[in-house]
Amino acid sequence: MQSDWYDIMRQYTTRLVRICSVSPDKGELLVAEEVLRLLRADGLESIYTANGLDPLPDDPTGRQNAYAFLRGSSPRTVVLLGHIDTVDTTDFGPLEPWALDPEGLATRQDALAELAPGLAEDLAAHPGDWMFGRGSIDMKSGVAVTIAVMRHLAEMAREGRLPLSVVLLATPDEENESAGVLQAVRFLLHLREQYGLEYLGAINTDYTTARYPGDQHRYIYTGTIGKLLPSFLVVGHASHVGDPFDGVDANLLAAELIRDLSMNDELCDVVRGQSTLPPVTLHATDLKTSYDVQLPFAAYFYLNVLTFSTAPRKLLKRLRRRAKATLKRTLKRIDKSERRWILTSGDKARLERLKARSGVVLTYSELHAEVEQRLGQEHIAAELSAAWESMPAGLDARERCLHLVRHLWTLSGKRGPAIVIYYSPPYYPHVAATPCLLHEVVAAVAAAHTELNLEVQEYYPFISDMSYLRLDPGMDMATLTANIPTWQEPNTTARSGRYSLPLVAIQELGLPVVNLGPYGRGAHQCGERVLMSYSFGTLPQLLYEVIERLTDSGSTKEFSYA
Ligand SMILES: [Zn+2]
Repeated sequence: MQSDWYDIMRQYTTRLVRICSVSPDKGELLVAEEVLRLLRADGLESIYTANGLDPLPDDPTGRQNAYAFLRGSSPRTVVLLGHIDTVDTTDFGPLEPWALDPEGLATRQDALAELAPGLAEDLAAHPGDWMFGRGSIDMKSGVAVTIAVMRHLAEMAREGRLPLSVVLLATPDEENESAGVLQAVRFLLHLREQYGLEYLGAINTDYTTARYPGDQHRYIYTGTIGKLLPSFLVVGHASHVGDPFDGVDANLLAAELIRDLSMNDELCDVVRGQSTLPPVTLHATDLKTSYDVQLPFAAYFYLNVLTFSTAPRKLLKRLRRRAKATLKRTLKRIDKSERRWILTSGDKARLERLKARSGVVLTYSELHAEVEQRLGQEHIAAELSAAWESMPAGLDARERCLHLVRHLWTLSGKRGPAIVIYYSPPYYPHVAATPCLLHEVVAAVAAAHTELNLEVQEYYPFISDMSYLRLDPGMDMATLTANIPTWQEPNTTARSGRYSLPLVAIQELGLPVVNLGPYGRGAHQCGERVLMSYSFGTLPQLLYEVIERLTDSGSTKEFSYA
């Protein structure tokens, strides 16, 4: 396979890695400007139909997407997408001064190998073939690929031989809240309208890596994983430790729920041979703020749930059913425990006063509806609005939701034991493969290069910007948005701290996605490294071949998966 790309790829990647662009910060804008400089160099600027920086709306640090557009002779258009931000560099420890200096790290390989698990073995397996540094694999080498290929296509356009139209977008904020790609969605809709384009899909170039030790495959993906953050307010019943059976320990209920849900493979999505990882808690606590000798009245936790096919409504239903069963079982256990304790302690008179405990499981939207019916829509809106105003500006998005749920619970006048289930931000939709020209072409290119050990899989296994390019049909967004306490529709006056996604725009855009990215190891770790032979030599050629085949394919073909 041709590798005329190698030197230029190495140079672009180094230049991009050298600019600090930890998200969210101003450095991301510097990378966007550098991307544009590289795209425009050697007189190519005038060749693009359009190119420039597209500002993120209301962005406190003034970040912008970099874009370039080539209108070929056909309206059929492919989108090249990459993110320009990184996670921070503190994990480099003593080597942090060289975190953005691939050569500096190369001369300190041995020190780096002491910090980075698996690095020594990789150095032995591919000597001299790794580039190190924050962003090297995630994903400045990926952005470099889109630039190198775009420049090649611009040269073709200069000679009047570019049939297909192409858009390149380099976006900030992927490691944070994906504000860059969400603006890109609006930008692409606008571009489609302005130039009458027909999108074939988006090729993202985020990193790929080995799936198990010794894995020799290079992966291409035609969809992506999603993520939901179901959250639980667990209300017990307060009492003094001197009489625990007069109350219900909220931590006990939360613990039993966590035991049922966390690391439970029954909650994995298994689709066409791929499986998500099981859920885990990302945070769990009771809601006491100081020491006292009361049973904690409430606890809360949230759960990281990865999805391939489970929509928000289905997950909520499933969690509700499990929470009901757990609550019932735990309360029954407490009832039995109390009875035994009374028999041992001899307070027989108390036996007659014994009553079976019961509790309730509600979703946020159910609780909201109940309270609304009792207090009226205006009253509850005013109450929640006041609760919103009382929150400090920088409060964590999950804590904001909790604050509103607690307030609603208090308004309800209900008593525990109870479990309120709701969703906290962020939400990343999963995207399944779609029968389409882009996916057929990717499969054909992979099949044409048996020597490369390419494997096309459906779901990209890491959270990425691709989630926001398409909503699978049948996703019920009403259940999601009704159960995120801080949700606000995009077109309403923005409250600070609100959560919002342009779901309608994403649905309108509906791009099939592909991830065709560099190969490396150790993303988000100090041993982050990109394998240069594949990523700098092979990958740009593969991307180019995909575009070439898209160009050659007819537009009237029907697509279906066998
Ligand atoms: Zn990435």
